[in-house]
Amino acid sequence: MIGPVPLARVSGCRSVWGPGPADRLRSPRARFERHLSASLPSDPDLVLVTDLDGTLLEGTDSTRRRVYGWLAAERRRVLHVFCTGRDLGSVGRLLAREAALGLQAPHLVIGDVGCTVACGVTLTPLPLAVAPIEALWHGRAERVLPLLKLIPGLSPQPLSTERRLAYGIDPHRLDTRRLAAVEAHGVDCLVSGDKYLDVLPAGVNKGSSLLDLLAWLELDRRLVVTAGDSLNDLAMFETGLQSVMVGNAEAALARALPGLARTYRADAHGCDGILEGLRHFGFGHLFDPWPEP
Ligand SMILES: [Mg+2]
Repeated sequence: MIGPVPLARVSGCRSVWGPGPADRLRSPRARFERHLSASLPSDPDLVLVTDLDGTLLEGTDSTRRRVYGWLAAERRRVLHVFCTGRDLGSVGRLLAREAALGLQAPHLVIGDVGCTVACGVTLTPLPLAVAPIEALWHGRAERVLPLLKLIPGLSPQPLSTERRLAYGIDPHRLDTRRLAAVEAHGVDCLVSGDKYLDVLPAGVNKGSSLLDLLAWLELDRRLVVTAGDSLNDLAMFETGLQSVMVGNAEAALARALPGLARTYRADAHGCDGILEGLRHFGFGHLFDPWPEP
């Protein structure tokens, strides 16, 4: 965990502020919230951290409509965080597209598999959270790109990624043992879904960035539930926070379940799996009795 640290210059941010004397007197949460366009729930009943593809975006239109409507109606009680492999541009396009089903912007976004943290409303990166990740990434791409070019079975993804590299993989050609030489340069190589490779600053992932965010916001971990479906969600589940592995989780993630003490394996897929998990952890009173459509 990186934790709250002094501010450094961050690329990709619209604004960068230095910590002035008044800043140093404020609490971490107050310093963090200065950079948000809308205030967060001051005393939430639940902090819901959802992966997108295969999780919050999975389910029938009618179920998704109901879950998105509930999140929109309970904005002051449920602090909602997207935690996704998508970059901010992709999240913005998704929000525009899914507005027809009632999906609203979350309070916060952890994007780029943990390498970006942004205001959910404006999708502006938050310097206090991003600066330490930027520092860890500095110079890494230049070192590992020449090595990655020599490994068969990798094709660069056309993404505007920040503080990471993203590849599609051919699992029949990729020898994952060759990634050890890449990781020797201060990065982690994360293969998920037998389809994707993310090259991340060492130690940075969805779980580490979520724990840092909770530290900044001084939130009670007992209020947090995470949900996901693929191997890049494993780091969230390994934090020990209450977590929901949705029923449609990829097989490699499901195999990790015995080592995950606080992760509930839902039978239901996607949005229905999230609700099943919330009931399991005692948060059902926030939406039950679920209104019939
Ligand atoms: Mg997913």
